[in-house]
Amino acid sequence: MSDDCIFCKMVSGEIKPDIVHETDNVLAFRDLNPQAPTHVLLIPRQHIATLDELQEADQDLIGEIVVAATEVARKEGIAERGYRLIANHRADGGQTVFHIHFHLLGGRVMNWPPG
Ligand code: AMP
Ligand code: ZN
Repeated sequence: MSDDCIFCKMVSGEIKPDIVHETDNVLAFRDLNPQAPTHVLLIPRQHIATLDELQEADQDLIGEIVVAATEVARKEGIAERGYRLIANHRADGGQTVFHIHFHLLGGRVMNWPPG
């Protein structure tokens, strides 16, 4: 837990997001500023600031997040049509919250390449 991290505050319950799915290690909640009809963020409960901090021991955790994303996608009814699952890393990637997270976006056609 990092004291000044907004996503850690969601894990601790200090801030209450709109939770759509949770496991022992993963929390999934709706993005405050949705960029698509479905826009869910999936985070590890553990504070990891950027993807660059991941260790070999975190492989199961990342797998758990990705599998959780597929479950949320099915629940949201976007699994058949398709969706995008992405993680932004640092400045060039567009990361603004420094607790790793995957964006699950769906319910509309996504553009490629991204802007
Ligand atoms: P990124 O820019 O990839 O770091 O994504 C951070 C995401 O967190 C953005 O899409 C924000 O809209 C979202 N966000 C920031 N604060 C909150 C919050 N309090 N509740 C839900 N989503 C948030
Ligand atoms: Zn955190």
